[in-house]
Amino acid sequence: MMTRERALRKREMLAARLPSPSGVLRGSLLQRTIHHSSGCLKCARGEGHPLAVLTVGYPGGTTRQVSLRPEQVAQVRKALQQYRDFKRSLEAISELNQFLLRLDRKESKEQEGKL
Ligand SMILES: [Zn+2]
Repeated sequence: MMTRERALRKREMLAARLPSPSGVLRGSLLQRTIHHSSGCLKCARGEGHPLAVLTVGYPGGTTRQVSLRPEQVAQVRKALQQYRDFKRSLEAISELNQFLLRLDRKESKEQEGKL
């Protein structure tokens, strides 16, 4: 069972382990293949060129796309993971704070009952 002490300890641990937010990046990584309409031997053979794209969705359904250089892909992949880790930790801390809020309410109600 979750107690106040356990919740506080867990919150402390999560906060201490929170990674630095300076590297975070939201979105997802897609692999596309682009095809030139003419003048390209690779595309004439039907091969095309692989292209990594970062897509970022916004409220309202708009999406922004950023084409990436091959050498940017590893860095972007890492930054996306950092965003997910950071968000997951924030969510967990938020859940604990919600639990503490409900616990405070319950305890103050019980105090009132005793008076
Ligand atoms: Zn081509």
